[in-house]
Amino acid sequence: MPPLVSVLILTEDKDGHDTIEAVTEHIFRLIVPEVRVREGVSFEPLPEARLRRAVQPSVWRSRADADERLLRDLRRTIASQLFSTPASFVVFHFDGDATWSDRASSTHEADFRLFVAKVEQVMNAPSVHRVPSRENVSQRIAEAKGRLLALVPFYSIEAWLYQSADLAKEMCKSGCGRHVERFETWRANRAELDEVPKPKDAVCFGAKHNHDLARALPTNDLQAVGKSFAATIDAWKASDELVGALTRTYAESG
Ligand SMILES: [Zn+2]
Repeated sequence: MPPLVSVLILTEDKDGHDTIEAVTEHIFRLIVPEVRVREGVSFEPLPEARLRRAVQPSVWRSRADADERLLRDLRRTIASQLFSTPASFVVFHFDGDATWSDRASSTHEADFRLFVAKVEQVMNAPSVHRVPSRENVSQRIAEAKGRLLALVPFYSIEAWLYQSADLAKEMCKSGCGRHVERFETWRANRAELDEVPKPKDAVCFGAKHNHDLARALPTNDLQAVGKSFAATIDAWKASDELVGALTRTYAESG
């Protein structure tokens, strides 16, 4: 049986696809524990390198005319994905670039709402939505928007990944060995990691092991922190589209 749920992953991190896929899979399991990810969900990166460049924060947040053509293509790709089947999702990862306590200073989420409004304009074009005139276009667009999921760690994705303390300690030990205590401190007080500016610069290996750390994530502990990871889960949980689609991966396969 082909996968029921298709997820297009957009991430600002170069080579970040596998990491965001692993994190997304964790979040799906936290929202619908019985979800059958392997059989029921497929994850895809953006097909074109130029579009992957468009999800760099300096580009998708840009209002420069020089970026408009690329952004138009990105918005069109997103709109087509959201309309392509009843269970096609887009996960859009961008960093908060602020600590959680200072998140009011970050304009990224407001910029994202503007970006989504422009995607919605694209969706309104009959050549994109292809909704027969007798059907309710605005209803279809509202559903499609429910399939666009923002994944927003504060300060950056490493604030979540460094919660994999055991593995992170091993990685430091096989490198410099000077950050072992730091990972211990963060494990003892998990809420602290959302408050570290540029966590990637606070340890020796930076983003080098992100995918392995993502797979090892202590997701229940991280959710219990109640900061940016929990906020992302809560936002996704509010999508009836997502909960319904994840539920169908096991409800329909018996
Ligand atoms: Zn180290």
